Parts: sequence; C-alpha cells; structure tokens
Amino acid sequence: MSTQPLSAVVLESRFAQELGELSVPWRADDVADPRLLVLNEPLAAELGLDPEWLQSAEGVRLLIGNLVPQGAVPVAQAYSGHQFGWYAPSLGDGRALLLGELVDAGGRRRDLHLKGIGRTPFARGADGLAAVGPMLREYVLSEAMHALGVPTTRSLAVVATGRQVRRESLLPGAVLARVASSHLRVGTFQYARATGDIDLLRRLADHAVARHHPGAAGAEHPHLALFEAVVAAQASLVARWMLLGFVHGVMNTDNTTVSGETIDYGPCAFLDAFDPAAVYSSVDRGGRYAFRNQPVAAQWNLARLAEAMLPLLHEDQDRAVSLAEEALEAFPRQYSAAWSAGMRAKLGLPQDLDDDVASSLVDDLLVLLQQDRVDWTAFFRALGGTARTGAHAARDLLLDRRGFDTWAERWRAVGPDPEAMDRVNPVYIPRNHLVEEALSAAVEGDLDPLGRLLEAVTAPYDERPGLERCAAGPPEDFGPYTTYCGT
Ligand code: AMP
Ligand code: MG
Repeated sequence: MSTQPLSAVVLESRFAQELGELSVPWRADDVADPRLLVLNEPLAAELGLDPEWLQSAEGVRLLIGNLVPQGAVPVAQAYSGHQFGWYAPSLGDGRALLLGELVDAGGRRRDLHLKGIGRTPFARGADGLAAVGPMLREYVLSEAMHALGVPTTRSLAVVATGRQVRRESLLPGAVLARVASSHLRVGTFQYARATGDIDLLRRLADHAVARHHPGAAGAEHPHLALFEAVVAAQASLVARWMLLGFVHGVMNTDNTTVSGETIDYGPCAFLDAFDPAAVYSSVDRGGRYAFRNQPVAAQWNLARLAEAMLPLLHEDQDRAVSLAEEALEAFPRQYSAAWSAGMRAKLGLPQDLDDDVASSLVDDLLVLLQQDRVDWTAFFRALGGTARTGAHAARDLLLDRRGFDTWAERWRAVGPDPEAMDRVNPVYIPRNHLVEEALSAAVEGDLDPLGRLLEAVTAPYDERPGLERCAAGPPEDFGPYTTYCGT
C-alpha cells in the first residue's frame, strides 16, 4: 500500500478566488460505503496522484469529495445556457463540484471535478445524483475520444455510492471524477454578462486568457484575440468530431467550452451507418444537433459567446458587433479547412494533390457512402487495405460495387498512402452496441466487458488479435439506437 499522504494532494482554488461571484462553496453528500469501480491509473500518474493511494479508503473518499485536502475550496460553478435554443439564466452545477485545480506533471492547471455528489444550490427540482451506467458511459466515451486525439475532458474514476437513484426505475448511484483543462463554458460568459457587472466579465475573460489562450494576452486587443482563439478551437474540435462520425447530441451553450475540449457525454454516440441526418438523443426531436448540423450549432453557440463578450470588444456597441461578426466569419473557413485536411488524411491523399481533385474524390465518395448507409469507421479502415493490396473489404461494405470500383480507380491513381491512413482511421471506436453491453454488465456487477472495451478504445489505431468483436459493426437486429439526456 502506498504512503502518499493526503497532504501531498495540493488543490488550488484560483477560479474560486478570482471569480467568487461565479462560485458557491459547497460540500459533497457523505457516502457511507463508497466502492471504486474504475480508476484511470495513467491519468492519475499524469496528475501527480498516486494510483495505489487513490484505491485506498482515503483515496476513494477524495474521489467522491468526502475528504477535502486542507486549503481546498470546493465550489459549485454558476453558468447560464441556451438549451436547444432557449435561454436558461441560471443553470450551474446542479450535481457537481469543482474540488480544485491540480498542476500536473507538465505544469498544466487541470480541474478536478466531481459529478453526482448530491444537490447543490443550482439543483432546482433535480436530485443531484448520477447513476453508475451514465457515469461509466462518460468514462468510456471521453477516454476513447482522448485516445482518438480529440480534445476532451478526461475521466479519472467512477465510484459507486451504494445510494439508489430514481430514474424510470431505481438505479445504483455513482460519482464520476472528471478532469478538464477548465470548466469555463460559453454559458459562464453568458452568466457573467447577465449580472450586468462588466468588471466581473472582464475578470472572467482575463482568467480565460491566462488559462487557455495566453497568446491572446500579448495581442493588441486581448479579449478580441480570446474570442478569435475560442472560434478557432471550436472549429477544429467540431471538424474532428465530424471526421470520426461523433454526434455530441446536446450542444447547448453550457456544454460548449472555452478551451475547445469536448464536454458532457450525455446522449452522444458514434455513427455506425453513415447518415448525415443521424440523431440519437431522445430529447432532440427536431434534430437540432443532428450529425450534419454540428458545425452550424457550434457557430451559433459562438455567436452567443460574442454577444456575452460585446462590452469587452468595444465601448461603441455597433463597432463591437462588427468586430464580433468579422471574427465569427473565420469559423466556416477554419472549419472547412480542418475538415478538408482531415478527409484528405483519411483517404491517404498525397500532400501535393490538387485541391479540386481531392475534393471531388471526397464528395463522390460521400455520395456512395450515404446512398448505401455504409459503416463509417469500418469503411475507412478497410480502405487502407484497398490502398495496400487492393483488398475487397471496403468494396464489400457497399451495395453499389460498380460505383465503388469507378471511384476507387480514380483514387488509387493518385497514390494513396495506406500507412498514413491507418494513423487516422481508427479500428476501434466505442460502438453503441458494445457500450450498451458493457454498461448493462457493469450495472449487474460484471466489469469485464467494460475492461475489454476500454482496452480496445484506448489504443484505437493499433489493430490487435483477440479484439475482432470490438472492430465489427453492430449486429443486424441492433437499433435504431436512442440515447437519453438528463442522466
Ligand atoms: P446537462 O444537460 O447534463 O448538461 O445538464 C444541464 C443542467 O442540469 C446542468 O445545470 C446540470 O447541473 C443540471 N442537472 C442535470 N442533472 C441533474 C441532477 N440529477 N441533479 C441536479 N442537477 C442536474
Ligand atoms: Mg452540462
């Protein structure tokens, strides 16, 4: 057993100190009999936390907020948000706490945040709790995204509380320990703006610059540079989602970070069959956050950030609006550039290939994939084999084989690089049917399927024997797949 004492865990509270108006000091509910379900040992080590100690009774109590290192000031954070287009002035952490900030081995400041710790002053009518299934879901999805190279919040641990959580039925409760480069959201700026306290808004922007976009501090107009940096980060983030077939499902402004990290893995899912209109969330009835709408939704959220920041952009409101509009215009360009570069990489196209040739290859392929509802992930990985040996695995995923052959002849003529393709086209993603299977087993007490799934998705680009099931598409009788929000 390790000997790391609690006093070795240094949690700072810079957010709470600098932005007291946006935080309420709070404590987690006491849990009598917590049980560690999963611990991310590499992440713990990265954070300077001893993984062995985290498994001890004391360590587990830290992970649920029942043991607070001296000097730490756990807070619930305040924020607003547009939810499915409707403004909610007072959301905030209804069931979560920012325990504090750790400075990791690389000198980076990281939030340690606990979800499912009981009701906070922002809980409104809800119970403040979280269930084992959804917290493990966030763990698997966020760690898969990290391994895929997508900026994201991370998951350090899931601890079962032994409490019952009432949803449609009674479910076992849990706390997720989440790590993020911060929890600043577009909604945080909306909240600060709504207070009418411009000094607070300015301090929030300065805090965001220092924490995420330090380059902006040296700009002629640091707050405009901050906004531009957030636009660029979100454009790049959403392009990565689109390239991987990821549907976030609840792109509200409170779930849109200033850091450009993916946050809030409630109703998200990866595409199996390619369908631009794919929607998985049970509450997204209008398809507002359908797969193809994600770039537009992100840009809409950034417009809300711009509105919140207007008083910082220029004292003259008209001038402020035109500065914001100009900065926001960069989004479609940046998004398209990131997406096109990503698609070129997925197809292994040579660097010097003419843009028109590349985009017609991409566009024509997407038509074929959509027509035949081809499995997005399986297709691109198999296509590496086509580039390498002319193997038929990719072709076999289509119904329109002649259409594919015509396309493939053009594509192979430009000399695609199969090694480069394998570096960007994953073998293993958290496939919906496997996630459901692993979570059902975990809730019944069997954590093995979850362990196997994690093993696959945390090294997604290296094909390994024994993991064939994790690479395969869903069984015929699976779906339509529905995910649930408000978990
Ligand atoms: P989400 O859709 O998960 O991003 O949550 C939206 C808002 O609802 C946030 O303010 C959450 O803190 C709050 N919330 C969600 N579930 C609960 C819950 N069980 N108890 C209290 N607040 C919750
Ligand atoms: Mg949220």
